[in-house]
Amino acid sequence: MVPRRTLPGRLADRPDGTFLDRRIDALSVDDRLVIARDDYFYEPVIEESKGAWIKFDGRWFLNFASYSYLGLIGHDYINHQAQRALERHGTGAHGVRLLAGTLHLHRELELAIARFVGAEDAIVYTSGYMANVATVAALVGPGDVVIGDVYNHASILDGYRLSGATVITYAHNDLADLERALRRAGDAGKLVVTDAVFSMDGDVADLPGILELCERHDAPLMVDEAHSLGVLGATGRGITEHFGIDPARIAVKMGTLSKTVPSTGGYVAGSSDLIFALKNNARGWMFSAAGTPMQVAAARAAVEVMEAAPHLTGELRERTDRYRAQLRGLGFDTLGSVTPVVPIICASAGQAQEMARLCQREGVFVQPIVYPTVPKALPRLRTIVNLSHSVDDLDHAVAVFADAGRRVGLIA
Ligand code: PMP
Repeated sequence: MVPRRTLPGRLADRPDGTFLDRRIDALSVDDRLVIARDDYFYEPVIEESKGAWIKFDGRWFLNFASYSYLGLIGHDYINHQAQRALERHGTGAHGVRLLAGTLHLHRELELAIARFVGAEDAIVYTSGYMANVATVAALVGPGDVVIGDVYNHASILDGYRLSGATVITYAHNDLADLERALRRAGDAGKLVVTDAVFSMDGDVADLPGILELCERHDAPLMVDEAHSLGVLGATGRGITEHFGIDPARIAVKMGTLSKTVPSTGGYVAGSSDLIFALKNNARGWMFSAAGTPMQVAAARAAVEVMEAAPHLTGELRERTDRYRAQLRGLGFDTLGSVTPVVPIICASAGQAQEMARLCQREGVFVQPIVYPTVPKALPRLRTIVNLSHSVDDLDHAVAVFADAGRRVGLIA
């Protein structure tokens, strides 16, 4: 059994320490208190995984914390293509993409993504985080205004900061507030950014309304499809397919290769001009090494699988809808979730942690999510359905959640 790496629950007593000692202590003071209370659930060290099951601390758990929405991790064809890339190109990257790092595999992946999401071209970054940070920072700068939903992902927020643009946030999915923000921005250069599916709540951005406002105020829109690729739309093409909207209306289509696509990396798809501009201005792309051959080949193979098996998204939706209806029927509050991210709202952070402990004791792995990751008033268990879960797995999990919910007094 691989031991979990945990920190001691007490601060070291070192008043004469260096600045770095004091800084380290200050950074971790709250988390050490959490560990001392035995409420630290994070970074389990996974030793093995098989489909929906993971093993850590020497025990097997049914995993409800995975983003592998279509259950493609371990897919034979994807593994095979990754192995072929390894045999042909080895493991390394040679350098940054602009100099010696671009392989035929990178361009094949970029063109496959562009085709899949309905764009002229795409740029592949080494993470979704980097895709957001580097793209936002390249597209707006001091004097411009970047406008975003208050629940946007941290990587988008970090892009705002790096850009130096003025930031205006609007209340979650609130069109009237977005319009106020657009008016406030006036004649400045504007970029509006939103997640397509919000990763903590599992709800969907009001794309038709957002686009209409953006077009009226001459503001291009950037959409983060991290949790919608493979999940929304009849064939998994994401939020535009979900709403029946022409993808060309979204100027900057961002997504990750670490969720439905079983690899790591991120992308932006859009016009050829946009991609050329990013390849010569997005610093997180220009100054960081290319993705490795295996990682890129796996992602490309996954896009092929998604194209060849468009029914998978519908199956995931059916299974998720049944599961969510069962939870709601039991009296759980799942907020506005309509996707495989299904939160179970709890009355307090302590109750969410107790629920997680009870579920883990029964072999169902879920994480409690509490303030500051989510608002103080909405602590939760975040459950995530994927296609590795059989209907029996889902029914079993619902029974475990129901039992835990009754024991902590969350449901009757
Ligand atoms: N955007 C959203 C909405 C996300 O949820 C995440 C990851 N959790 C990212 C971007 C970053 O993607 P990656 O993990 O591939 O870096």
